[in-house]
Amino acid sequence: MDLDLPAEAEAFRRATREVVDDLLQYEPEYHRTDTVPEVVQETLRKMGYYGMTIPEAYGGLETDKLAAAAVHVELSRLPPQFWPLIRSAVGPVTHALVNHGTQAQKRANLPHMANGTRKISFAVTEPDCGSDVLAMRTTAVKKGSVYMLNGTKTFISNANKADVILVFAYTDRSKGREGITALLVDARTPGLTLSPAMPTTGWMEDGLFELNFNNCEIPADALVGEEGRGFFYALEGLNEARLNVGCQAVGCGDIALDTTLEYAKQRKTFGAALASHQAVQHMLADMAMDQHGARQVLFEAVWRLSRGEDVRLRSSMVKVMCTEAAGRTADRAVQLHGGSGYCRGTVVERVYRDVRVLRIFEGASEIHRNMIAKHLLR
Ligand SMILES: Cc1cc2nc3c(=O)[nH]c(=O)nc-3n(C[C@H](O)[C@H](O)[C@H](O)COP(=O)(O)OP(=O)(O)OC[C@H]3O[C@@H](n4cnc5c(N)ncnc54)[C@H](O)[C@@H]3O)c2cc1C
Repeated sequence: MDLDLPAEAEAFRRATREVVDDLLQYEPEYHRTDTVPEVVQETLRKMGYYGMTIPEAYGGLETDKLAAAAVHVELSRLPPQFWPLIRSAVGPVTHALVNHGTQAQKRANLPHMANGTRKISFAVTEPDCGSDVLAMRTTAVKKGSVYMLNGTKTFISNANKADVILVFAYTDRSKGREGITALLVDARTPGLTLSPAMPTTGWMEDGLFELNFNNCEIPADALVGEEGRGFFYALEGLNEARLNVGCQAVGCGDIALDTTLEYAKQRKTFGAALASHQAVQHMLADMAMDQHGARQVLFEAVWRLSRGEDVRLRSSMVKVMCTEAAGRTADRAVQLHGGSGYCRGTVVERVYRDVRVLRIFEGASEIHRNMIAKHLLR
C-alpha cells in the first residue's frame, strides 16, 4: 500500500494547507459577528474545490481520490460554516449525476456546480425516516409527462441556497428498495416550501431545513438514471460520503490537537507550562495516537477505493473510527483549555460542538456497527 501522494497531488494539498492557514485568521471575526467574511467564499471558489469530483470534460478538476481526500482533510481544519456548499458539491448528488445523469442533466448542471455557481442539496431524510430509509413516505406518481411529488423531507443541508435538490421518493412502494426513484428537482418548483432554518448545536448552524412538497409537478426528464434505482444510487454515493465524513473528522481533530499543543506550551499552571505536566503530556499523546489511527484507516480505505475495490465494510469502519476519535480529541482539547475551552469564541469550543454530529449523519455509529457485524457474521 502506497499512501504517498504523487507530486502534483501533494502540491495541491500543500497549497490548500496554505489557503486554510490564511483563512483561519478570519475565524475570530466569524465568532464575533456570526458572519462568514466574503473573502472566504471567494478564495475557496477560486481554488476550484467545488469541482474536485466533477470530470474535466464538465469543467471540474477530476482530482484523484487520494488527493481529494488529502485536500478534504485540510479544508476540514476550517470552521465548517466556511465551506458548507463545497461539502455538498463533493457529496452524493455529484456522484449520482456523474454516474447516472443524462447528458442533458450533466450539461445543464455539472459545469455550473464545478465553478460554484449552481448549488445542490440531497434530500432523503424525513420526519419518520432517517436511519431506516425504506420507511420514507414521499411519493412521486407519474401522470402523463410529469411526476406528482408529495411529502416532507427534513434536516436538509443548504436547502435555502440550493438551485437543485436531488429528491428520493417512492414511485412504487410495493417494490420496497426497488421502488425508490431519484429526481433532480428545481428548487423554485411551485408547491415546494421551506421551513425556517432549524438551529443546530454546531456544524450547519443556519443551514438546515425542512422541505414540503405539495403536488409539485416534476417534469419526467428530471428522472436521474432509471426509475426504481434511487435507493442504490444513494447507497453508492453514501460510500464515498462516509469517507468524506472521515476526512472531516480527521481535519477537525487536527485543528483541535494543533491548537491545544500551542496552548499547552504557553499556558502556565503551578509555575510551569501546562505541557510540562506528565498527565497533560499523556492526554496530548492520546490525542496524537487517535489522530494517527484515524488517518491510517481513512487513507487505507481511500487508497482501496482509488483501486476500484469494494470499500463498503471499510467505509463503515472509517465512519465510526474517525468520528469517535475526533470526539475524544475534541473533548480532551476542551479539557486542556480549562474554562476558556468552554467559552464561545475559542477554536476548541467550536470544534467540540461541530464534531458531535459526525457520529449521527451519513449513518449513525450504531447503524455502521450493525453493518460491520452483519458482514462479520454472514
Ligand atoms: C447537521 C445535519 C445535516 C444533515 N443533512 C442532511 C441532508 O443534507 N440530507 C438528508 O437527507 N439528511 C440529512 N441529515 C439527516 C441525517 O442523515 C439523519 O439525521 C440521520 O440519518 C439519522 O436519522 P434520524 O435523525 O431520523 O435518527 P433515527 O433514525 O431516528 O435514529 C436515532 C438514533 O437511534 C439510533 N438507532 C437508530 N436505529 C438503530 C438501530 N437499528 N440499532 C441501534 N441504534 C439505532 C442511532 O443512535 C440514531 O442516532 C442531516 C442531519 C444533520 C443533523
